[in-house]
Amino acid sequence: MRVRWVRLGLTMLCALLLAGPMQGSASDDIEALLQQAESVRSADPAAFADLLHRANAQGDRATPRQREQLTYLNAYAEGFAGRYDAAIEAARGLLDSADVEMRFRAGAFIINSYAVTLRFTEGLRQLEQTLALLPQIADPQLRQHGLVVAGVLYNQIGQYELGLHYADLILAEADAAPGRTLCFADQLRVEALQGLGRLPGDDALMEHAIERCAAEGELVVATSVRATLARKWAAQGKREQAITYLQKHLPDVRATRYPRVIGEVNSLLGELLFAHGDLIQAERHARAAVAQSAGMGYSLPLVAAYRTLYEVADRRGDPVAALNHYRNFAEADKAYLNDVNQREVAYQIVRQETELKTRQIELLDRQNQVLQLEQKVDRQGVQNTRLVAALLAVMLVSIGYWAYKIKRVQLSLKRSAETDALTGVLNRRHFSTLSEQSLAACEKSGDWAALVMFDLDHFKAINDSFGHIAGDWVLQRVTEICAPFCRPIDHFGRLGGEEFAILLHGADLRQATRLAEDCRVRISLIDTAPSGHDFRVTASFGVASVATAGYSLQRLLSQSDEALYRAKHDNRNCVRVHTGDAPATAAPLAPVASAGLPLR
Ligand code: GH3
Ligand code: MG
Ligand code: MG
Repeated sequence: MRVRWVRLGLTMLCALLLAGPMQGSASDDIEALLQQAESVRSADPAAFADLLHRANAQGDRATPRQREQLTYLNAYAEGFAGRYDAAIEAARGLLDSADVEMRFRAGAFIINSYAVTLRFTEGLRQLEQTLALLPQIADPQLRQHGLVVAGVLYNQIGQYELGLHYADLILAEADAAPGRTLCFADQLRVEALQGLGRLPGDDALMEHAIERCAAEGELVVATSVRATLARKWAAQGKREQAITYLQKHLPDVRATRYPRVIGEVNSLLGELLFAHGDLIQAERHARAAVAQSAGMGYSLPLVAAYRTLYEVADRRGDPVAALNHYRNFAEADKAYLNDVNQREVAYQIVRQETELKTRQIELLDRQNQVLQLEQKVDRQGVQNTRLVAALLAVMLVSIGYWAYKIKRVQLSLKRSAETDALTGVLNRRHFSTLSEQSLAACEKSGDWAALVMFDLDHFKAINDSFGHIAGDWVLQRVTEICAPFCRPIDHFGRLGGEEFAILLHGADLRQATRLAEDCRVRISLIDTAPSGHDFRVTASFGVASVATAGYSLQRLLSQSDEALYRAKHDNRNCVRVHTGDAPATAAPLAPVASAGLPLR
């Protein structure tokens, strides 16, 4: 029963709360009318109606802010008249206000309107939205009003921990809160603690609340706390004290003219007096409670009053009356329990909705995180791509470099495989290869070809006299001198030791002899001073052409060698030409120009 009784008085508190925070001053313009209407709206309904009527008449001249305030007051008037749907409808128009405080105020009003009409699901939904605005509310009174609204709703649906939380929030700002708000907070705290079974053993908390509320003229709230105090005493075995206390304050209770609280106290007195054995007074109070609850649906005082009436009839041995009261009791109790369940269900529904929303937000957050991660990965991907590209570029450059190096090495190897390391002219093997190709080409094209072979004279003596290095120097110098006489199409090779050969592509015997003579003269003119020695270099030449040898390299070599041999024999430093079977002496020299060979 404890939990069920806690719900007493909460509905009336939210009805009181519809008044909201007070403001006020006086003048004749619309601003003044609005302020006046604000200040009297709960205290003087008639004056309020008049002021609102006058303010509405001047609505055309209202600023947007004043128009919103007017809308709010009109909604309030609808609520005050019990037309809650119209009140909620009007206040909803303010939920889109640019002014956050107006949105908050309208939200709190709507929550209370839902609470009064027991539409808890809608009330809780609105509460969630309105509480979200709380951090933006600078006005402490408005803020505290919102906290009271939250506390009332949570207590009303049996969520006492939350009710206590909001009551404590208000009391934590007690310095900035008006006494009326603190009275509400005290009451919420008492209700919540009772609901949680944590009311302190002593009465200080409740007495303080009653004192504060009475001082603020909030008699309804003070009475509600008194009823709670009396119930606590009864539970503590101090039933007589509880009865005396309630009876003493009955005039105050009646003075509130508030049916719910009158019904509540009478119902409680009926219960206590029945337990005390005073059937007559018990019945009287129970009947008063039923009368006060008429037309107000099923409330807990009504349930308790029907039960008292049933118990009285039963005790008196009046089964017909007892059955009748019991039926009423059972019906009211069932309806009330149904209502309690619905409040719990309302809370669970909104909690689940909130949970779902939170989950959805979390899900969105996660998706957002995933997106961000993907973007990051993409960015890193781009970076990676760049890195890969850079690596590839480096690799390509390295590969290119190495390819170039390798090519150079290959070329170098090829060159060293094809050329004579000391002099740079073709080695014997490659000279033979290229010469054979040239001879084949000349044969094919019907061109002439000739071979000049020469051997340095007394070369052994140079080596012996001036050393091998001087000998090498001579070999290099000789090739340097003779190479310019060869065209690119000709082939100049070192056959071995100090013996060389030049295959002349397309040249006849005369031209070849001329070249041989040029080389001989030039060699004989070598200045050996750079070698560090002073000596003379000469060479002996043998020349043969395809005219006698045919296009056979071997035969050309053989015939020119034979001519060379003769040149050696003829005292060296001369040119001898192979002229067929009849060995010739020096060939007649053609003029350089007509030889068609490069002279330099
Ligand atoms: P001739 O006038 O009859 O040709 O006499 P020669 O001394 O030139 O001929 P010989 O065949 O007796 O000597 C050739 C010398 O050439 C022997 C060898 O030491 C030298 N020789 C061969 N190849 C090289 C070389 O690459 N460098 C040097 N410095 N000497 C070489
Ligand atoms: Mg020699
Ligand atoms: Mg030789």
